[in-house]
Amino acid sequence: MLKVDQISTFYGKVQALDRASIEVGENEIVSIIGANGAGKSTMMRSIMGLVHPKSGTITYQGENITNLKTNQIVTRGIVYVPEGREVFPELSVEENLEMGAFSRKYTAAKMRSLLEEQYAVYPRLKERRKQAAGTLSGGEQQMLAMGRALMSKPKLLMLDEPSMGLAPILVEQIFDIIKELHAAGTTVLLVEQNAQMALSIADRAYVLGTGRITMSGPAAEVLADDRVRSAYL
Ligand code: ATP
Repeated sequence: MLKVDQISTFYGKVQALDRASIEVGENEIVSIIGANGAGKSTMMRSIMGLVHPKSGTITYQGENITNLKTNQIVTRGIVYVPEGREVFPELSVEENLEMGAFSRKYTAAKMRSLLEEQYAVYPRLKERRKQAAGTLSGGEQQMLAMGRALMSKPKLLMLDEPSMGLAPILVEQIFDIIKELHAAGTTVLLVEQNAQMALSIADRAYVLGTGRITMSGPAAEVLADDRVRSAYL
């Protein structure tokens, strides 16, 4: 479904990715783990067209998307839930969800049914639909950010540190939702500091160390690797 081939991404003179390659197959869950500053977010931002790699190619469903704009990438079915959620704080919960479908130009009836779909997954959001998103708890904001992403019916959902700052019970809830989305046919690319959770949910995994992929394989094998255990678990 997605092939990132040897990309090098820079911010000015800072090189964040150095010939990094990953692949995501249809209906897989793939996790990328790595230390702070390894380049995990940059990988997702590069795929999403928020920053363009200087070299290398990104192919999605057979099409070269390396230099497309973010809105063009969203309409092809890739959506990104950024680290830190980035909800619109002054908009209501429902308005935030509607923003997720902005590029799709849905009819009012279709918009309503998509909202109801999100409210069925996240009943808490329905209770709070008129509340300003900035006043939600961290866990509720994470659910809102995921619901907003799902409003455009992505084929590939990219989640950047969804567990960050959440209590363990909420982390479990978020991971249960990821499993349900995957069971319903969504392909998931996940970036996590919580390596244990990320590897236990994934089919395959990559380890990123300062811009380079240092290990990859079936998630169970990466989880069992002594170097991974001592560095990340
Ligand atoms: P974390 O787990 O801490 O979020 P990460 O693995 O997601 O880290 P990135 O956010 O991709 O890492 O950052 C990779 C490198 O690129 C870091 O050295 C960071 O300082 C640098 N970087 C990221 N964004 C920018 C930017 N906008 N301008 C300059 N340097 C940046």
